[in-house]
Amino acid sequence: MKAADFSRQVLDWYAVHGRRDLPWQHRPVPYRVWVSEIMLQQTQVATVIPYYERFMERFPDVAALAGAEPDQVLHHWSGLGYYARARHLHAAAKQIVDRHAGRFPEVYDEVVGLPGIGRSTAGAILSLACGQHFPILDGNVKRVLARFHTVDGWPGNTRVQKTLWELADRYTPQHDVAAYTQAIMDLGATVCTRTKPACSRCPVQAGCAALAAACQADYPAPRPKKTLPVREVAMLLIANDRHELLLEKRPPSGIWGGLWGLPELDKDADIQHWCRSELGLQVVQSREWPVLRHTFSHFHLDIIPVHAEVSGQPDRVMEAGHRLWYKPEGNDERGLAAPVAKLIQRFGNRTRERNP
Ligand code: SF4
Repeated sequence: MKAADFSRQVLDWYAVHGRRDLPWQHRPVPYRVWVSEIMLQQTQVATVIPYYERFMERFPDVAALAGAEPDQVLHHWSGLGYYARARHLHAAAKQIVDRHAGRFPEVYDEVVGLPGIGRSTAGAILSLACGQHFPILDGNVKRVLARFHTVDGWPGNTRVQKTLWELADRYTPQHDVAAYTQAIMDLGATVCTRTKPACSRCPVQAGCAALAAACQADYPAPRPKKTLPVREVAMLLIANDRHELLLEKRPPSGIWGGLWGLPELDKDADIQHWCRSELGLQVVQSREWPVLRHTFSHFHLDIIPVHAEVSGQPDRVMEAGHRLWYKPEGNDERGLAAPVAKLIQRFGNRTRERNP
């Protein structure tokens, strides 16, 4: 199939079946498209929409985002995961204010030089918001192209990626590039889906090599398997007599970097001793809750929650803004990792049940 026929058929299909009512498609200026692309990197559209709307309401433009405290940005990201994305977004907004007078750059080399923006995201922003001729290669596009041409190998492999970029470039038309970018993403998301692609509804079915060979499920090849290691950690829900929980600020980089978390100890550590020596607090009663598993891309984290009621002078534990007592029912804007937010909510529910 000629490249022009491929893109024309995808565009014609999009004109009838494409999604044109997503929140970032209303007023698709670079800032709004950028935030949506970052949120969508590892997250489904349906999950992203409410986060996106809240984020835009709170940070309507680059200046609002650049001027926010890191905690406020992380708070609006809490639950979306992959928090480095939020930290990069914030850093990039500051850079845009410093270097581009607050105006999102529209030159490829400047866009791709911003924190957290790679080749595909830069292409998506410049094509969707500015109509510039740049290809994209997100997960959806990789799937369509890998199947259409039966491209062997895992798309994370450099050689495979090079082939896919060449194909993405070949099919991106000179005109209607914004519509094509959205169209090819939609095709992957709604027709050429991971499982059970709807080939009978596909606009490019006539040229698809995977359909012809009935081997759609083999493409793209999955990431080579490796068994994820399991790490274990005790997370302390240290509660004072005001039913507040002790939170600690995590280091700026690494897992859940910059978020607030529960104190973590080795699973065999002496919690009584730690509370006494580190916080000057006496554990009156402690209970283990069922293990909570959180899976990262490179390991499973088995969290052993330990609810410890303490007595003593809670104000002594404050340490230069690094620790605080947190009211679960308050509306304090703090960035919390998803499992920490879940444990805090569970604590709040139990406290309400016991103290109606
Ligand atoms: Fe994907 Fe099927 Fe279309 Fe091929 S024909 S691109 S496998 S939906």
